[in-house]
Amino acid sequence: MGRVILVSNRLPVTIEGGSSGQRVNRSSGGLVSGLDPLHQQGDGLWIGYPGASPDISTRVLLKEMRLEPVDIPASEYSGFYDGFSNSAIWPLFHYLLEYCNFDPAAFKAYKRVNKRFADAVLAHAEEGDTIWVHDYQLMLVPSMLREKLPGARIGFFLHSPFPASEVMRVMPQREEILRGLLGADLIGVHTYEYADHLAQSFRRILGLESRQGVVNLSGHSVRIEAHPLGIDVENQRAAAFSKEADRILTQYKRTLGDVQVILGVDRLDYTKGIPNKLEAFKSLLDREPRWREGAVMIQVAVPTREAIGSYRDQKSEVERLVGEINGLYGKRGKTPVQYIYNSVSPAELGALYRLADIAFVSPIRDGLNLVAKEYVACRDDGGGVLVLSEFAGAASELGEALRVNPWDIEGTAAQLERALDMGFGERNERMAPMHRRVVANDVHRWVDRFMRSLGNPENEVRATPPMLSSSVLAETLAGPFVSAKSPLIMLDYDGSLREFTPRYEDAAPTEEIHKLLNDLGALEGTEVFINSGRDHHTLGEWFGDDDISLIAEHGSWVKYKGKTKWQRLGPRPDVSWKREVRSILKEYVARTQGARIEEKSSALVWHYREAEDDVGEWQSLDLTTHLENTLASAPVEILTGSKIVEIRQLGLDKGHAYDIVESERGPFDFVLVTGDDRTDEDLFARLGPDAFSVHVGQGGSLASSSLSSPASVRRLLALLVEARSG
Ligand code: UDP
Repeated sequence: MGRVILVSNRLPVTIEGGSSGQRVNRSSGGLVSGLDPLHQQGDGLWIGYPGASPDISTRVLLKEMRLEPVDIPASEYSGFYDGFSNSAIWPLFHYLLEYCNFDPAAFKAYKRVNKRFADAVLAHAEEGDTIWVHDYQLMLVPSMLREKLPGARIGFFLHSPFPASEVMRVMPQREEILRGLLGADLIGVHTYEYADHLAQSFRRILGLESRQGVVNLSGHSVRIEAHPLGIDVENQRAAAFSKEADRILTQYKRTLGDVQVILGVDRLDYTKGIPNKLEAFKSLLDREPRWREGAVMIQVAVPTREAIGSYRDQKSEVERLVGEINGLYGKRGKTPVQYIYNSVSPAELGALYRLADIAFVSPIRDGLNLVAKEYVACRDDGGGVLVLSEFAGAASELGEALRVNPWDIEGTAAQLERALDMGFGERNERMAPMHRRVVANDVHRWVDRFMRSLGNPENEVRATPPMLSSSVLAETLAGPFVSAKSPLIMLDYDGSLREFTPRYEDAAPTEEIHKLLNDLGALEGTEVFINSGRDHHTLGEWFGDDDISLIAEHGSWVKYKGKTKWQRLGPRPDVSWKREVRSILKEYVARTQGARIEEKSSALVWHYREAEDDVGEWQSLDLTTHLENTLASAPVEILTGSKIVEIRQLGLDKGHAYDIVESERGPFDFVLVTGDDRTDEDLFARLGPDAFSVHVGQGGSLASSSLSSPASVRRLLALLVEARSG
C-alpha cells in the first residue's frame, strides 16, 4: 500500500505557550499509538487542527513531523466543535435528544470546517494515496474528497455510536450528513448494531439498499464494517506496572486500609452516566450498612467540553450527589466517594486499575468504552470484576462482565453487591477469557484489520462481465469446442448448474443434470469435472455413477472418472481448530433461527439461507468477526459465500485444484469453467486469456462473460453437446 493520509479533528500534538515561544508536545493515548506506525511508514501525513494557531517556527516543526495543520478561525471552530459536533451530533448519536441543538448557523460552520479539512487533504493527496478520515466531526469530508478524487481509496471510522434510523431522522441535516459518508469506500464502526443502524438509515432516509453491509452506488460501492477499537496493551501495561505505579498503589492501599475499591474513570460527559452510578452506589449503602465500612468508590472525572452548558450542569449534579453520599455516610477518616475532578497520570491510572476490586463502567450510551478494556488488560492476576453497562459498545466483546442497565438503579446496586461478594474463583473465570481477548485484539490489530479491508483488492468493485444468452454464448464457443482435441469443461455445482434450495442437502442433481453430464462425458476426448465446495461423500453419492470426474471441498479431494477412490490434493490438513469453531458456530445457530452447520473433512460451514434476511446477513458478519478474533493464528481462511460462512483449511482452493488437474490430465486446448461465488473467482483468476469463463448471476467477476441462471448454463451445455456430437 502507498502513502496513508490520516485526517482527524485534532492533530496528535498540543501546542503550549504564547507570544514568547511555543512548545509542541506529542499526545499520548491508545489511538495515537495505533495510528502512529501508519503515519511513520512511507511519507505518511496527518492532517488536523493543532488546537492553537502555530507560529512560524512551530509550523516548521510540524512540517518536519509531517503534521499538516488546518487553520480555522476561533469563532468558526467553536460553531463547528462546541456547536454542531458536540451539541447536535454527539447528543443525538447517544440518544440524548434533550441535549440537541440543531442550530443552522452551527451547521454552516460545520460544513465550512469540513471543507477546510477536505481542501487541506486535496492540497496534498497524490495518486495512490489511501485517505483515512476519523470521527463524527468530519462526516462530510469523504464525499467532498470523492467529488474531486473519484478513484481515491477513502476510509472513514466513526468512534461514536450510530443511532437507530428513527433517531437519525430527527436531525434536520440528516441527508447531508449521510451523503457525506457515502464518499468512503469503507465505513468502520465499533459494533454490528451500529453498522446495522447505519445501513438502515441509508435505506430509510436516502432510499439506498445495502446487501451484507455493501451499498452499491454508480462508480463505487460503500462497505460498512464493524471493527471494534482495541487498546495499546503494551503501553498500558508498561505504565500500570511501572515503579511509579507500584509506589502510587502502595500509597493508596495504605491510605484506604482494608476495603474493597470500586473504581469509576470517565470524562465528565453526560453520556457516561456518572449520576446514575452514584445513585446506584448510594442505593447499595442505603440498603446494606456493611458496605458503608467495607467499600469505597473512587471516581475519576476528567474535565471536558466545559464551554457547553449541559456539561457544566452535569458537573454540578455529580458534585451534589458526591456531597450527599459523603454527607450521609462519611465519617472521620472515611470518605465513601473519593472524587477526583482532574485527569490522572498514566501511572496513577494503572495503579488504580490494579487496585480496584471492581471497575464500574456504566455509561448510559457509549460508542465503545476503552476504560473497560484497559482495566481488563491490567488484570492478569485473575482478580477484579468488571461491572459494565449494556449500552457500552464494548459489552458485545466483554460478555463475561457483570451487565447492568444504568437506568435500573436497584438492579445496578444488586450487581455491584454481587461483584463485591464474588469469590476469587468466579472472578478469575470471568476475567481470564476477557483478558486474553483484549490482549489479542489490541489497537495495532485494529489498524491492521481496517487497513487490510480498505486496501483489499477483493473488495474493489469488479468489472461486470457482459450478460449473454445461452444461444449467443454457444455460438461463440461451438467452433473452438468442436475443433478441440482435448477440451476441459469444469463446472461449479450449487448456484451454477443447480438452483439453490432452502435446505442445502435437498439440492441433489435432477435427471436432466445427470443426463447432461453423461452426454458431455461421453463426448470424445472431453474431460468433464464438477468442481464443487461440497464434501466428497455427498458428491460421491450424487455423481459416483456418472461418467465424469469430481473435485470436492474447494480443491481438497479429486476422484477421476472411472475410479472409485478419492485422492487428497495436498497434505492431510491439521483440523485441530475445528472443535473451537464448531462450538462458536453452534452458538450462532442458537441465536439465528433457521441457521445450520455443515461438516466437511477440511471445513465447517454455517448456512443461513433459511434465516430471516436481515438477521442472517448481520449475524453472518458478526460471526465472521468473532471467528477472525478467535482464529487469528489458525491455518484457516474464512469465506463468505451465498448465504454461507465457511471456515476452511488454508492453501486449498478451486484454482489450485485446476492447476493439479491440468498437470495430470492436460494440456487442454479448450477450457470452459463456470461458477457463481467468491470461491470460483480463485479459479477464474488462474485461467489464461484463451479460456472461457462464465459467471452465473448478476454482479462483478473476473469471468469473461455471464449467464443469468443455472437453467441458462444447462441450456448452454446442451447446445455444446449438440454441436460436438452433430
Ligand atoms: N484517560 C485519560 N486521562 C485520565 C483518565 C482516563 O487520558 O485522567 C483515558 C483512558 O485511559 C481512556 C480514555 O481516557 O483511554 C477514555 O476513553 P473511553 O473510551 O473510556 O471514553 P471517551 O472519553 O473516549 O468517551
